[in-house]
Amino acid sequence: MSFIKARSLKFEYIQRDEEGNVDGVLTALDNVDLDIRPGEFVAVLGHNGSGKSTLAKHLNMLLQAEEGTLWVDGKDAMDGANLWDVRKCTGMVFQNPDNQIVASVVEEDVAFGPENLGVPTGEIWKRVHKSLQSVGMEPYRSHSPNKLSGGQKQRVAIAGVMAMEPKCIVLDEPTAMLDPHGRREVLEAMEALNREKKITLILITHYMEEAVHADKAYVMDQGRVVMQGTPREIFSQVDTLQKYRLDVPQMALLAHELRKEGLELPEGILTRQELAEALCRLYGA
Ligand code: ADP
Repeated sequence: MSFIKARSLKFEYIQRDEEGNVDGVLTALDNVDLDIRPGEFVAVLGHNGSGKSTLAKHLNMLLQAEEGTLWVDGKDAMDGANLWDVRKCTGMVFQNPDNQIVASVVEEDVAFGPENLGVPTGEIWKRVHKSLQSVGMEPYRSHSPNKLSGGQKQRVAIAGVMAMEPKCIVLDEPTAMLDPHGRREVLEAMEALNREKKITLILITHYMEEAVHADKAYVMDQGRVVMQGTPREIFSQVDTLQKYRLDVPQMALLAHELRKEGLELPEGILTRQELAEALCRLYGA
């Protein structure tokens, strides 16, 4: 059974001029279908403006589509009456960690979400401990978030969402403002949540490398889903990805170029290790 199932989702932004008159209509989601199973790690890829954030906002009802159907954990997300049920099961993490931190001490920040849900105090502190531990931030629980690095702040934001115990976390470009070290920290924390706690993970990103370990990836362009499959299936279609102005993971690109030069390398190479092994097999080493 699907955890998230969307059929023919359509959403338009009404554009207005300075006087508030309708100036145009932009279709940001155009006939989008999704099928995401419980516990899956799904990447949504696409160039800037392709509709990824708009889609993410539908998954916890920050936006509602005009047409189509959307089911989240068996609840109809087109029905306003289900707003809180849907929000409880799908947590969101956004791009800028500074906009998501609300308290002056890390543990209070993580406690904020469950407090708002009315969780009893004893249970809140258990959850704060567990969540900070899973993202490797327990040693910082009494620190001020202001003193943390971008990657650490983003991990605190993820712990804050985890403490509300959602079944699914949607992360909208969570590493876009981080340096490579921070990006790696956040990616590792996310992947561990998915692997160990079986939390459904939906990662919106334009860094192709971040999707390599996903179970499934969707590629969006101009509001439409234009490719879907395993990362291996998607990244072996180098020419198509380039048509959608997307980068290709370095090793997939190198393998593609070598194939064009006549080397008989298999399709679907994604990592340095896989390329090294394929080259060794080819040359009998
Ligand atoms: P992405 O996340 O892939 O960058 P978005 O979902 O943010 O894409 O945007 C999809 C399209 O909708 C873009 O053309 C963007 O300019 C437009 N858009 C996004 N938010 C708004 C808004 N609040 N009002 C009008 N247009 C918007």
